[in-house]
Amino acid sequence: MSSLDTIVKEIADEIRQRTDRGEVATYIPELARVDPDAFGLAVIDAEGNVAAAGDSDTPFSIQSISKVFTLTLALGKVGDRLWRRVGREPSGSPFNSIVQLEYERGIPRNPFINAGAIAVTDLILSGHQPREALGEILHFMRFLADDQTIAIDEAVAASEQRTGFRNAALANYMKSFGVLENPVEFTLGVYYHHCAIAMTCRQLATAGRFLAHLGRNPTTGMSVVHPERARRINAVMLTCGHYDGSGEFAYRVGLPGKSGVGGGILAIAPGKASIAVWSPGLDSNGNSHLGRIALESLTKRMGWSIFGV
Ligand code: GLU
Repeated sequence: MSSLDTIVKEIADEIRQRTDRGEVATYIPELARVDPDAFGLAVIDAEGNVAAAGDSDTPFSIQSISKVFTLTLALGKVGDRLWRRVGREPSGSPFNSIVQLEYERGIPRNPFINAGAIAVTDLILSGHQPREALGEILHFMRFLADDQTIAIDEAVAASEQRTGFRNAALANYMKSFGVLENPVEFTLGVYYHHCAIAMTCRQLATAGRFLAHLGRNPTTGMSVVHPERARRINAVMLTCGHYDGSGEFAYRVGLPGKSGVGGGILAIAPGKASIAVWSPGLDSNGNSHLGRIALESLTKRMGWSIFGV
């Protein structure tokens, strides 16, 4: 066993013993059904070696982690014009906050808060039917993860569609400023469905590899984005990937990362590894509590923080 294998197994053992698990998200009723004790961790290094432990092959709802991939897709479509529709500054507000949108005349602060991600989804949707846009997103995820079995959990999408009153408010508000081009219900439908993609830690870590290696998957040699774009997506992940907990995540973990309310986190150690962790209990900012602790331990032991030891 390599030292990375040993460290990953040790972290999974330590996490299993902890009793502070955070709170599973309940505002999307279907997410409340998940096992709060689940824990998975998968790390893929530059050579393609996978170190995995716990429930790393159990699919979970990736939720907002999908926003990293929709941002990548939308940048591929419209390039830097995207930044006319959405900013790239940390918000300092909860993920579904509406206050800032009024001050900033319907332009969301960044692509990872809900409003920003809805605006990005709207860009992907333009010129297409919702079914085509969703098909394109799913196809991209399957390509990146090199796994055709990845699917949308329709029960989660329907559950969020029924209860997504705040997202509907955000979308309607942006529509009133002309920030959304498509019918609000179409954009929201695509958004809820891409958030409801289910993936395992192993699949997610594979999908994130291009971000760790200057825009290309070093195993397949496939280029996904230019190195400069990969660097910039990582920068937005570092500053905005954990909502109002982004500063704390940078302080403790020191890696670009994106969380989802399903309890997953994708973290990128540039040049070194792509990492996915899953523990459904959340902290008060809506980020995985033990997921963050596991990543803190991993980066410390591996010396992977982008800020040095
Ligand atoms: N689909 C969720 C929502 O819009 C995503 C939030 C998250 O994962 O942080 O509320």
